[in-house]
Amino acid sequence: MRNNTFPYAQLRFADIQLLRYRVPAFQDLSLGQKQYVYHLAEAALCGRDILWDQNCRHNLAIRRLLEDILQNSAIVHEGKDWEAFLTYLRQVWFANGIHHHYSTDKFLPAFSAEWLGQAYRAIPSPVIGAEEFEHLAEVITNPSVMPKRVCQSGDDLLLASACNYYGEGVTQHEAEQFYAQQKASAPQPDQPVMYGMNSRLERDAEGNLYENIYSSTGLYGRQIERICSHLEKAMEFAENDRQREVISLLLQFYRTGSLDTFDQYTIQWISEVEGTVDFVNGFTEVYGDPLGLKASWEGYVNILDREATRRTEILSQNAQWFEDNSPVDPRFKKKECKGVTARVVQAAILGGDLYPSSAIGINLPNSNWVRSVYGSKSVTIGNLTEAYDQAAMGNGFRQEFIPDAKVLEQVNLYAHQLDDLHTDLHECLGHGSGQLLPGVDADALGVHGSTIEETRADLFALYYIADQKMHQLGLTPTPDAWHSNYYTYMLNGLMTQLVRIKPGCQIEEAHMRNRALIAHWCLEQSAYWAQVFGTIPAMELARKDGKTQLLIHDYPTLRQFIGQLLAEIQRIKSEGDTLAAKHLVEKYGVEVDGALHQEVLQRYEALDLAPYKGFINPLYTLVTDTDGKVTDITVSYDETFDQQMLRYGREYN
Ligand code: ZN
Repeated sequence: MRNNTFPYAQLRFADIQLLRYRVPAFQDLSLGQKQYVYHLAEAALCGRDILWDQNCRHNLAIRRLLEDILQNSAIVHEGKDWEAFLTYLRQVWFANGIHHHYSTDKFLPAFSAEWLGQAYRAIPSPVIGAEEFEHLAEVITNPSVMPKRVCQSGDDLLLASACNYYGEGVTQHEAEQFYAQQKASAPQPDQPVMYGMNSRLERDAEGNLYENIYSSTGLYGRQIERICSHLEKAMEFAENDRQREVISLLLQFYRTGSLDTFDQYTIQWISEVEGTVDFVNGFTEVYGDPLGLKASWEGYVNILDREATRRTEILSQNAQWFEDNSPVDPRFKKKECKGVTARVVQAAILGGDLYPSSAIGINLPNSNWVRSVYGSKSVTIGNLTEAYDQAAMGNGFRQEFIPDAKVLEQVNLYAHQLDDLHTDLHECLGHGSGQLLPGVDADALGVHGSTIEETRADLFALYYIADQKMHQLGLTPTPDAWHSNYYTYMLNGLMTQLVRIKPGCQIEEAHMRNRALIAHWCLEQSAYWAQVFGTIPAMELARKDGKTQLLIHDYPTLRQFIGQLLAEIQRIKSEGDTLAAKHLVEKYGVEVDGALHQEVLQRYEALDLAPYKGFINPLYTLVTDTDGKVTDITVSYDETFDQQMLRYGREYN
C-alpha cells in the first residue's frame, strides 16, 4: 500500500499543512460502483455552503468578497499586505469561515483595514456593494466583533458565540427551556428524536421562538434540493435494495425535515453492511453548537478496504468478551453487545464539516436510543491515516520529544499500527460499550458530555490495547508493543497537544480535554502511589538537559490506573453524575501549566511544523463516448488547494 513517490505533503501556511490522499480502491470498482461513488461525491460537495453559513452568518459574503479581490482586484499582487491577504484567505477557506476550525477563535488578518479598502475599491465591478463591504470589513478587522465561534464559558454561551444556529439575541436560557419543553412532551420518551438537530432557533414577528427547519423547501432549500438531485442519480447505481431504501429515506428527510424520518433513515443506514461503497450525508456532529444540540452539515463517501477490515472484524466478533471483561461495574455493562460493525475504509471524497480537516475514525449514529437498540457503524479511514503517517516520517518531531533511544525505536516501529488499532478500539468498541441506568437522561452531563464520552472511548481503547487478548488475536506485533501507544498517548496528553493552544489560553476542545484529563489523572496517581509506597512513580515528567521529558517506568501499573479511571468515567456516564463530570474535567482536562506550555511551544516552533493538517480532495472526471454514454470515471490528484477552493466556490455555491 505504501507509495513513497506520491506527493502527500502539499501547501503549508499559518498553522496548516495540506496533504493529499490516495484512493487506490476506486480502481477496483465496477463502472456502476464508480458512478455510485461519483454521484454520492457530488452530493457530498453540494452542502459546502450550508456549513459555511452555520459557522457564522457572514461567512459566505466574506468568502465572495475575498475571492473577488483575489481574482479581480487591480491592487498590486505582491508585498507584505498581499501575502497577508493570501494567508488570511487560505485560513478562511480551510476553516470554512472566519473562525479557526479547532480553537474557534476569529482569525485576525495581518493586513490593515486601509489595505482591505484599497483592494476592494480596485475591483472594477465588485460582487459586494459598498455598504455591505463596510460592514464585512468591520467583521474581518475588528477583534472584538464575533471573536469566537463556539464559546464554552461565560454567562450566556449563545450570546457569546458567533455560530449561526440561533437567531440574533436568542439567549441560552430561552433555548434550554425551549428544548426542555420539547423533550418533556416527546410522544415516545424512551425513543426521543434528535431535538433541534436540523434547525435554527429563531424569533418570529411577535417575538416567539420557533424552529426554522433545514429542508428542501425551508432553510438552505436550494442547497438541499441540489444534494437531493445528486442522491437521486446515485440511487440508480446503488449496489443493493437496502442502499436504495437508505437514500430514499434520506431524500424524504431532506424534503420534510421530519426527525422521525431521520431516525428511520438512520436505522436502515446502520443495517446496510453488504455494499462496498457507503456514505454519510447530512446534519451530524454537534461540536459547533455550544449547547450540543444543533448538528453541522457534513458529507463523505467511502470505499471498503477488505484487507484491513479483517482486523476490525476480529474486534467486532469479540465485542461481548470485551464488554464482559472490562473493569466496569456490571450494572453499567451492556448485557448484549450487538450491531458493532467496524470497517477500514478509504475516503473517496470529504465534504462539509469533514473537509479539509477530517476525522480519521467515525462512529455513527449519534442518537442514543438508536445506538442502544440497533447498534452503530464504525469506520477507520485508512487512506487518511496513511497520509498522516507518510507526511510525518522523519520530520524531527519524535526525535525532539522522545529523547530515549529505546522508546523512540519502539515508537518508530509500532506507533502507526498501534495508533490504528487504538482508533479501531475507540470507535468500534469504546463508544458502543456500556449502558445508562434506567431513567438517566443521555444529555445529563451537559457541557461536559462530549468530553466524558470521548474520555470513556479512549480509556476503553487504552485498557484493551494493553490486554494480552490483543496479541492472542494476532492484532499486535509483539506482547508489549502497546507500550509505544501508551507513551505517545501520555506524551500527547501531557505535552505535545499543547502546541495547539495559544499562550495564556486553556484547553477547550472535547478530544483535547479528554486526553489531558486521562494523562494528568494518571500522572497524579503515579505520584501519589509512589509516595505511599516509597517507590519510583509509574510515570513522571522529569527535567533533563534543560528540557521536560516524559518517563514511563511501569507500564502495567499505568494500565491499572487506566482501568480504575474507566470504571469511574463509566459510572459517571451511566448515572448521569453531572458534578463528578464537572469536577474531573475542570480539575484535569482544562488547565494548562504556563511554564511547560511555553517550553513545548518553543521546542515545537524550532521544528517549524504545522500543528493542523487537512486534505485536498481527488478530482473525479466522467469519461464519455461519442453518444455521451459514461464509459469510465477517472481519479486524479493534480489540483492545488487554491484551484480546488476556487472551483468549489464556482461549482457548489
Ligand atoms: Zn470518539
